[in-house]
Amino acid sequence: MGRYTGKSCRLITMMVLTSSFFLAEIVTGYTTHSVALIADSFHMLSDIISLVVGFIAVKVSLELGNVEGLKFQDLNLSEKQLGIR
Ligand SMILES: [Zn+2]
Repeated sequence: MGRYTGKSCRLITMMVLTSSFFLAEIVTGYTTHSVALIADSFHMLSDIISLVVGFIAVKVSLELGNVEGLKFQDLNLSEKQLGIR
């Protein structure tokens, strides 16, 4: 398995695509004096920020999942111990 697989690979792909659209829109918006394109480019910038936050969340969750091999499924508590019968 590579370093970036699954969710992180999809997030990186979306970050690359969104960044290229951001750059294309802001350049075209300033050269053609289009306020709509400039406004949408900043919308794309906010999308990039949320994708970065999502990427960090995936990385942190993978780090926490590897702490001493502890996983939620490994707790092996019965329904009676949890009080949900
Ligand atoms: Zn958006």
